[in-house]
Amino acid sequence: NRDRIMQSERLNVVSELAASVSHEMRNPLTVTSGFLQLLNKSKTLTPEEKGYIELSLLELNRAEKIISDYLSFAKPQAENMVYSNLQAECEYTKNVIMPYATIHKVAVEFSFNNSLSTHYDRNLMQQCLINLYKNGIEAMKGMEDGVLSIDISERKQNIIISIRDTGIGMTKDEISRLGKPYYSTKEEGTGLGMLMAYSAINKVKGVIEVRSEKGKGTTFEIAIPT
Ligand code: ADP
Ligand code: MG
Repeated sequence: NRDRIMQSERLNVVSELAASVSHEMRNPLTVTSGFLQLLNKSKTLTPEEKGYIELSLLELNRAEKIISDYLSFAKPQAENMVYSNLQAECEYTKNVIMPYATIHKVAVEFSFNNSLSTHYDRNLMQQCLINLYKNGIEAMKGMEDGVLSIDISERKQNIIISIRDTGIGMTKDEISRLGKPYYSTKEEGTGLGMLMAYSAINKVKGVIEVRSEKGKGTTFEIAIPT
């Protein structure tokens, strides 16, 4: 129990620190990337110099990716606490990832049947959902008939959000690594999405249950107490 509390405090510190660092990093990254793009247009560059610039732009792009897994929405200084049933968050973030789903030929199903409300930080919750939706879509990369199903219901005073994909699935061992910083099996992965998701759900004293079968798909079930 004590370990649990320490773990939970650690997660809080991690997510707060990450949010503010990410926020501060965004401006310098954008500015640097802009100037490099300008520089890249110069007619006096040698091929070697051009190569350096392009490599730098790629690396900046990667840094931006890391930040966006942590903070597409969050404004870390401004807490955004609401008391609501989570439908708006699930639906809004579903709309945000629709273009991404379409590019990957993934169909998205959405169903809602919950009358309970709870307190949560809107920014954190949206970021968490985006990360889970994105992982679901990415797990169905290259498949023809992938489906991402999002369902909100209630069970014993808990709000249940279920996010199911028909993708590659995970072994028990892979499941046990979820949420470890920088654990990623993707070529361009950050390994930060699940860490962020766990820490956001941890903040509302919720739990995430994972059910997965290799080659069949994965279900993330979030239970948030009201
Ligand atoms: P990233 O997506 O950048 O790799 P995440 O922290 O979001 O980092 O996810 C970590 C790893 O967990 C992924 O690389 C993948 O191996 C695994 N994973 C997460 N969600 C799923 C899923 N829905 N289906 C299969 N594997 C998943
Ligand atoms: Mg991810």
